[in-house]
Order: sequence, then C-alpha cells, then structure tokens
Amino acid sequence: MPDPSPLTIAIVGGVAGGASAATRARRCNEHADIILFEKDAHVSFANCGLPYYIGDEIADRSRLLVATPKLFRDRFNIDVRTRQEVIAIDRDARSIRVCDRETGGEYDQSYDKLILAPGASPIVPPIDVDADNVYTLRNLEDTDLIRSCVDDGKPHHAVVVGAGYIGLEMVEQLVRRGLGVALVELQDQVLPLMDREMAEPLGATLRDHGVSVHLGTGITAIETRNGRAVGVRLSNGQMIETDLVILGIGVRPNSRLASDAGLDTGPTGGIRTDEHMRTSDPDIYAVGDAAEYVYGPTGQPMRVPLAGPANRAGRLAGQHAATGGAPAMAPVMGTAIVRVFDTAAGMTGLTVKHAERLGIEHRSVTIVANSHAGYYPGAKPITLKLVYGPDTGEVLGAQATGEDGVDKRIDVIASAMAFRGTVRDLAGLDLAYAPPFGSAKDPVHMAAFAASNQLDGMADFAPCDTDLAGKQVVDVRTLKEVQSKPLPGVEAQVVHIPLDDLRDRLSELDPARSTVVVCASGLRSYVAARILKQNGFDDVVGLSGGQTMRRRASLQETVS
Ligand code: FAD
Repeated sequence: MPDPSPLTIAIVGGVAGGASAATRARRCNEHADIILFEKDAHVSFANCGLPYYIGDEIADRSRLLVATPKLFRDRFNIDVRTRQEVIAIDRDARSIRVCDRETGGEYDQSYDKLILAPGASPIVPPIDVDADNVYTLRNLEDTDLIRSCVDDGKPHHAVVVGAGYIGLEMVEQLVRRGLGVALVELQDQVLPLMDREMAEPLGATLRDHGVSVHLGTGITAIETRNGRAVGVRLSNGQMIETDLVILGIGVRPNSRLASDAGLDTGPTGGIRTDEHMRTSDPDIYAVGDAAEYVYGPTGQPMRVPLAGPANRAGRLAGQHAATGGAPAMAPVMGTAIVRVFDTAAGMTGLTVKHAERLGIEHRSVTIVANSHAGYYPGAKPITLKLVYGPDTGEVLGAQATGEDGVDKRIDVIASAMAFRGTVRDLAGLDLAYAPPFGSAKDPVHMAAFAASNQLDGMADFAPCDTDLAGKQVVDVRTLKEVQSKPLPGVEAQVVHIPLDDLRDRLSELDPARSTVVVCASGLRSYVAARILKQNGFDDVVGLSGGQTMRRRASLQETVS
C-alpha cells in the first residue's frame, strides 16, 4: 500500500460505523487529520449491550464504554468532539456546519473526505407519548433514564410496545428485574421479521415466563396522571395499567443531513451508496443504519439496521477515505439473532413471507433436529427452516429457533449464502462433529438433504399450514404420540398407520388420492412417502416440520 497523503477526514457519528471508520482510517493513514463529531456525550459505546445493563446482567456500566475519547486521542490521534452536532453540509465548499451543544455556538469545519454514520432514530407512534416514564432506547442517555426508573422508582409493571429484537430483549430484562411485563405487538406474531410458525416458540417462552402477550393490537393512547404514564390503551379497547412504557417499534434512518445536502436517498429511505459506501458525492461516504446496502438475496438496495454491517462498512469506508482504495462491501444478508429467556431465534436472508412479498420464486423445508447427538446428554431440539431457489437450489435464507446451537447453524448457512451456495453445497459441508457439539448429520445437513430431495423429485413437502381438506392424511406416528399430540383441526380425517406397519397396511389407503403424510417432525413422513411413492402412490407429500410445526402454526392464530 503506498504511503497515503495527508488529508482531513471528518466523520459524523461516533458509535458503531463512525468509530470503526475513524480507527481504520488512522491505521491506514498516519498523516490524516481525523475528526469525529458526536452530538451526544459518548462515543463507541455498546448499543447492543444496553438492554443487559438495564436488566443488570451487565452490572458495571463502564463495560459498555468500548472506547473513550481519551483512548481515541492517545492511541489513534483522533480528534473526538462530543456534544458537537453536524447540522449542514456545504458540498461545494467541502465544509460542514457544526453546532456546539454545550455553548449553542456554531462553526465550520472543512474536509477532504466526509463519512456519515449518524445512525437511526426510534420511531414513535402518532399518539401523545409525552410522559416521564415513557421511553425509547437508543443510547446511553436513554439507558440511564430507564435504569434509574427501574432502580429508584421500583415499578411493578411495564408495557413494552413492539416485539422486534429490542422489544424482546427489554421484555426479558425487565422480567429479570422482577417486573410484570405486557408485550404489545401490532402484527399477529412476535418477531414479525420471521415466518410466523418459526417465531411461535418465542411467544410460548414469553408466556411461560409470565409475560402477557398482546398480538394483533396496537396502542391508541397512553393515559397519564401528573405527567406520568399510568396505563396504555390498546386498539382492541383493552386498558393495561402500568408504571413504565418502553416503545420499541422500529427505527428510521437519520438521512436528513444527507438529503438536505442533495445526496441521493434510495427506495428504502436510507442514503444511497455504492460498493465502497460512497454516496452520490464521491467524497462523501455513508455507513450504518442511515445507509443502504446491497441485500444479498435480491441484489437490491436495503437498509439493514444491525451492528455487524455498520462496523464492517465503517471499516471499509474509513480505509477508502484514507487511501483511495478498499475492498468492496460484501452484500448483507440481514443475519440476526435474539435470545428470549431460554429460547434463541436466528435468521439470515429471506423468509417465506418476505420472498412472497417480493414475488421471488422459492421453496422451503422445515426440519426439527437435535442440537447435538441425541444419545449424548443435554441435546435440545432445533427447528430449522431453509428457503431456496426452486430451479437453482441457491440458498435464499434460513431461520432457526431452539435452546442451543441456533447461532452456529444460522452462521454456517449465512456463510454458504455469502458464496451463493446451494442446498447441495450445504448438504456436502464438512462440519466439526463430536457428540457434545453436533451430529454426524448436523441439522444444517438434514435441512439440506430434505431440500435436495425435493429438488431431485425424491420427496416433496407441503408447508405446515397447508389446507388438508379433501386430502388423504396419513399419520405415521405411534399410537401414543397420536393420542398425546393430535394433529390440530383434522383429527377425524386422519388415517393412523405407524410407519413400521405401513408396508403391511397399504391396502387401507387409496393410491389414487392426493396424500399428505405426517409424523412428529418430518423425518418419518419422508420415509413413509418413499414407501408410498414406490408402491403406486403418485401424489404424495410430507408435511414439512410435521405435527410440531402444524401445531405451532395453529397456536399462533389463537393467541391474543
Ligand atoms: P449508531 O451506532 O447509533 O451511531 C450513530 C451516532 O451518530 C449516534 O451516537 C448519534 O448520536 C450520532 N449522530 C447522529 N446525528 C449526528 C449529527 N448530525 N452530528 C453528530 N453526531 C450525530 N444490532 C445487532 O446487530 N445486534 C444486536 O444485538 C443489537 N442490539 C441492539 C440493542 C439496542 C438497544 C440498540 C439501540 C441497537 C441494537 N442493535 C443491534 C443495532 C445496532 O446497534 C445498530 O445497527 C448500530 O449501532 C448502527 O450503527 P451506526 O453507526 O449506524 O449508528
């Protein structure tokens, strides 16, 4: 790398994207003037750790401060200016206007390269939310307010609005602090980014921990007394009395500074960028929650407000600004994970409902398999759903829920997707195995085998919520299983033949009828479908994910 020339790099926003850009720029260019502007009091704090400090799982607040202004100065020779808000960009003059929030005074700062990392702001519902104990959570100031409300105000009850990642983490942490918690979500499921049946275990876990879950309803008003919220009114008419309200209904990109300067914004409202995170002005970069990335499964621009892409994009933009060259930003898959008590839910790429919304051709399979070898103590079931292209077999997305090993499976699949891997590639992955860690056929393999079988015409699977009316439904579980966990909604119509008896009882079935085979999770029904297919049954499918997923899909519809 040639010795880069001196230049002034100004950076707006000093947390995930901005801090990464600043330090990478310094490592690449010792001679640049690097100035980091942050409108709040802190830089480089751990946003993702904030809920866990409120819940006291992270007890020491200073652990959240990943790097201080002093460290930026001493180690990286970066001029960190906190409480300094950048309020305008003059692109012709290559200058930014800065408001000193301590004094109210304003000044200009010239730049050669400008990196925008101003993040996003919490969305607030269009109702009056002006009360002391109604909070959003974005930064340390919000965190301190919520934590002192919980520590000092000794609230008994909280309402969390929004069942996305931050809402779910806050529910978990407030329960941990001993509060009764109600969760309100406008969609008819928790974690609306996921397919509904995949998110159901989270809802069940929440209810198991005493959380009252209100789905398919929004908030229409916050009732106040003496400036404090005392209740939340729901759109279904219900009133929930409470001592504390957390709003977690999503974020909108802080793209105004950019658009006011005439920089292009993209179809999703984020700042438009190229593969080097340059905006429509090549001397100005944008990264993080305010920017758009290329979304891997579609190749289209998308906002992905997550820490990983912000850090990686910041690093690349910092290098490019400091040296004039850097690797391109890889497409982003939206890989994410959340823990809700003992259940984890992770996803990468497209869900079925997202694919449907975008009109993308897809197929999917769902399997339930153990996190490690079933004979080794402590194995927990993982539900894994794979979405893939029907012609190419290219993996388009995956979702997983379970108590153990969800992160590993999602990360393996996200890695394969980064290289445009197919389900056959997944089926052939050589993964680490010993009984405490996995299985010789890992859940990733099992899902890939099912998808490959589907591609090859060896087996076909119907979605778990398929309409079974008029079908010949064959349940191949044992009698004990059928009695303890009947197939919801279609009991009368089901022919029960345990798998091991199937070859002897084929005459009880009509080979001319459209047939759906069901077991607990999809594995035995696959074996049964192979027997039927090779005995003259032409139209046979297995129910994907079996009774387990069918029950989850039906449960969600009844929750309110
Ligand atoms: P930020 O990190 O928010 O930084 C933007 C900074 O810019 C802010 O400090 C802001 O004050 C400053 N700023 C804005 N405008 C100006 C201006 N005009 N002048 C000067 N300064 C300005 N992501 C995950 O992947 N996993 C998680 O587990 C996770 N958990 C999260 C938990 C919480 C509570 C929150 C709030 C977010 C979480 N995220 C998580 C999301 C992740 O933190 C963000 O995607 C990431 O921080 C975005 O980085 P950014 O640099 O774009 O914005």
